[in-house]
Amino acid sequence: MTNNLQIPLRNVSFVEKKYLKKLERLGVRTVRDFLYFFPHRYDDFSKLSKIADLKPDQTATVEGKIIDIQNIRTWKRRMTITEAAVQDKSGLIRVVWFNQPFILQNIKKDFRVRLSGKVNWDNKGLYLSNPAYELAKRVPTNTGRIVPVYPETRGVTSRWIRWKISQLLGKYLNEIPEIIPNAILKRQELIGVKEAVRELHFPSCFEKIKEAQKRVALEEMFLIQLVSVRARKDWEQSRAIEIPFNEKLIKDFVGYLSFKLTDAQKKSAFQILKDIEKPHPMNRLFEGDVGSGKTVVAAIAALETMMAGYQTAIMAPTEVLAIQHFETFKKIFKNFSQKVGILTNSQCRTVWKKNTRRNFLGKVGRGEIKILIGTHALIQESVEFKNLALVVIDEQHRFGVEQRARLQKAAANLKDNLKNSVPHLLSMTATPIPRTLALAFYGNLDLSILDELPKGRKKIITEIITPANREKVYDFIRAEIKNGRQAFFIFPLIEESEKISGKAATEEHERLSSDIFPDLKIGLLHGRMKPKDKEKVMKDFKDKKYNILVSTSVIEVGVDVPNATIMVIEGSERFGLAQLHQFRGRVGRSEKQSHCFLFTDSSSANTKKRLKALLESEDGFKLAEYDLEIRGPGQFIGTRQSGIADAAMQHLSDVKLIQQARIEAQSLFEFDPKLEKFPLLKEVLERMNKEVHLE
Ligand code: ADP
Ligand code: MG
Repeated sequence: MTNNLQIPLRNVSFVEKKYLKKLERLGVRTVRDFLYFFPHRYDDFSKLSKIADLKPDQTATVEGKIIDIQNIRTWKRRMTITEAAVQDKSGLIRVVWFNQPFILQNIKKDFRVRLSGKVNWDNKGLYLSNPAYELAKRVPTNTGRIVPVYPETRGVTSRWIRWKISQLLGKYLNEIPEIIPNAILKRQELIGVKEAVRELHFPSCFEKIKEAQKRVALEEMFLIQLVSVRARKDWEQSRAIEIPFNEKLIKDFVGYLSFKLTDAQKKSAFQILKDIEKPHPMNRLFEGDVGSGKTVVAAIAALETMMAGYQTAIMAPTEVLAIQHFETFKKIFKNFSQKVGILTNSQCRTVWKKNTRRNFLGKVGRGEIKILIGTHALIQESVEFKNLALVVIDEQHRFGVEQRARLQKAAANLKDNLKNSVPHLLSMTATPIPRTLALAFYGNLDLSILDELPKGRKKIITEIITPANREKVYDFIRAEIKNGRQAFFIFPLIEESEKISGKAATEEHERLSSDIFPDLKIGLLHGRMKPKDKEKVMKDFKDKKYNILVSTSVIEVGVDVPNATIMVIEGSERFGLAQLHQFRGRVGRSEKQSHCFLFTDSSSANTKKRLKALLESEDGFKLAEYDLEIRGPGQFIGTRQSGIADAAMQHLSDVKLIQQARIEAQSLFEFDPKLEKFPLLKEVLERMNKEVHLE
C-alpha cells in the first residue's frame, strides 16, 4: 500500500507491451499515472433514444439489433465503408463507419448493440455516422452513459483507454491511498480519492464530475503548495550575506541616470534592497512587462552588492541577451567598468580586454570581477566565486520548470567560501503571469511587479490585417524602410515542429525576397539554425545590415533593436495574447512611431474578438488574465512540463481554491513540521522533490 501504486505498467499483464511507449508519450508510466490520466472532456451519451425519434444533427444513443452489416470498398475515394442497419421496436436506421473494416469482427448480424453518435443525412435518408459501439449486454463504457474522452496520441484511442482504465479500476481502485488528511477533507468538503478517480473516468452524472475535479485539483494544488511552503521554510532557514542599505550611494546613482525612475521601479528597487539587507536569502520574482525597465532595478541591487564588497552573477538565457546586459552595465557603471565581466561558452572578457579563460576565472575567484554576466556557462563551468552574494536570473520563464529548479539549486550551491551562505536570488520575467498562477506556482517567492512603463513611450499602433489588405501593408512597410526603419516578420511555431515552421519561414523568406521586396535586404532566423549563425543574424540586424528580419517565434525575448519599428505577425490567431504582446514589445523602443500588424486568414468571430483585445489594451497583465480566461492555463505552463493533471488545470484560475490549498499546507506544517503523522504524504513529497531535482 505504501508504494502509492508506483507499479510500472510493464508489470501489469493486461497492458500490452506495444502500448507502453505510446503511453509514455502521454506521460503515463505507472499504474498511478494511468489512473490519474483523466479525460479532457465528456460526451453525454446517457439517454437512450428511440430510432423513430432521431432528428438530423442530433447526437444520440440507440439500442437495437443488427439486421445487416457489410464492408463496401469505394474505389473512387479509396476507403472502406462499413454499412449496417439497426432496428429497435420503433424503427430502423442506417449506420455508417468510415475506414474501420475491423468492426465486422466485433459486431455481426443479429447482435444486439448500443450505438452513440451523430445523426447525419444524405439522399438515402438519415444515418448514424461513425458511432461508438458496444454490445448491448456489456456494462455501458463507450455508449449509453456519460462517456470520457481522453487526450489521444497516435495508436492510443479513447476507446482503448476506457477499456484499460476499467480493468485498472477493477484491480487497483481500492488501493488508491487517501493522502489528504481527514480534517482537510472535511473542512474543504471534498469527496474521497477513490470516488473521485472513479467518477472522473466513469461518471454517474455531471455534478459528480465537478466534485471529483475539485477534489483532484485541490489535491494537486495542496501538494504543490506543500512543496513550495517547505522550500520556502528551508530557504528562510539558510543564511545569506547582509548587504547594508546605502541611501547615499543609491541617490547618487539614480541622479546620474539619464532618465527618472518610474514609481514602480522605485518601489521594486526598495523591496529588493530591503530583502538583501536581511541575513536570510531573498527569493523574489520580479515581473515586469517588456520594456518596463527591470535591468536598471537589478543594476541597483548589483551596485549595492558591489560597493559592500561582494559579487553578483547575472544569468540570461541567450548569449545575445547576455551581451546586451554587458553593454548596459558597462555604460551605467562607467567608473567601475573593469569590475564587470561577461562569460559565455564562446567568450570571456572584461571591458578592457579579452582574457584567457583561466586568467578570467582567476579574476572571478579572487573577487576582482564583481559583476559577472553570462549564460548557462555560469553554472555549467567550474566557476568559483570569491563571495557571491546576489544571483539574478533574467527571463527566468525561458528556462523551463526543471531547468529553473536546477538553476535555483545551482545558485544555492554557489556558496560563499567565507561565510558558507546562500546568495540572494532575484528571478526576472517579462511574461506577465496572472496573479492566480503566480500564487499557484511561485507561492514560495515574493513578488515585485513593474506595472508601469517609463514615460514618453508612444503607443504602438496595432491593426488586424485580413488578406485583402496585405498589399497596402507591404507598401506601407516599404515606405517606412525607405525612411530608415526596420521590420520583423514573425511566423507561428507550429507546435512541436520547429521543422515545419522553420520551413514556412524559409519559404516566406524566399517569397518576400523575390516577389514582394526584391529591392530590400532580408535576414532569416529560425530555431534549427546553429547558435552561432543565429547570433550573427541578430547582430547583423542590429547593425542595420538587413531591412527585414523573418523569424519563427524563437525570436529572442528581451532583444532590443530600437530602430525596428514594424512588427508583422503571420497567422496571429495561433498565438496566445501574452505571446503576441511579447512580440509587439520588440518594437516601440524609441521615440519613433511603431506599428504592429496582426495578419490573419481566420474569419472566426472568436479570433477577431481575441485579437481585438490587443488593439484595446497595452497592459500585459490584463492581456494575460484575459488569455487565462479564454484559453486556460495550459499556455502559461505546459501541462506536461508542470505535471499537472488536466482535471486540475481547469481549476487553476480559481484563486480561492489555490489560496485554500496554500492555507491548508501552511497549517499542516505548523501542526506537524516533519509530517510524522502523515507518512503517505511525506512519501509523496519526497518523490516530488526527487522528480524536480533530477540531475
Ligand atoms: P525590460 O524590463 O524589458 O528588461 P529594459 O530593462 O531592457 O526592459 O529597459 C528597456 C529600455 O528602457 C532600456 O533602454 C532602458 O534604458 C529604458 N528605461 C528603463 N527605465 C527607464 C525610465 N524610468 N525612463 C526611461 N527609460 C527607461
Ligand atoms: Mg530584460
